[in-house]
Amino acid sequence: MHEYSIVQSLLDSCEENAKQNNSDKIIKVIVKIGVMSGVEPDLLQTAFDTFKEGTMCEGCEFIINIQPIVIQCHKCNTKSILDKNEYCCPVCQSVELDVLDGEDMFLMSLELE
Ligand SMILES: [Zn+2]
Repeated sequence: MHEYSIVQSLLDSCEENAKQNNSDKIIKVIVKIGVMSGVEPDLLQTAFDTFKEGTMCEGCEFIINIQPIVIQCHKCNTKSILDKNEYCCPVCQSVELDVLDGEDMFLMSLELE
């Protein structure tokens, strides 16, 4: 499953981060998931709960923030947040856009002990 490999690398970067900060316990993990990233929040949560056992994240709080699509329109130069998963400018209906956010998954922050 896609989410399992994501969680594996997420846990790795969490532990790396903790080590760099001389901590061996992670209290809180906050991630951001773009609506177009293809990651299912529910599956990610389940995968995280399964894999955190025996890691520094065991017992930590896992918070998922959903990031909507943010676009910058080439025609009218407006920056918009899209409600629908459709790449179209809400102001002028142009489809010539740059996607600024909403397509990736990021580790946003960690709280360490
Ligand atoms: Zn526009």
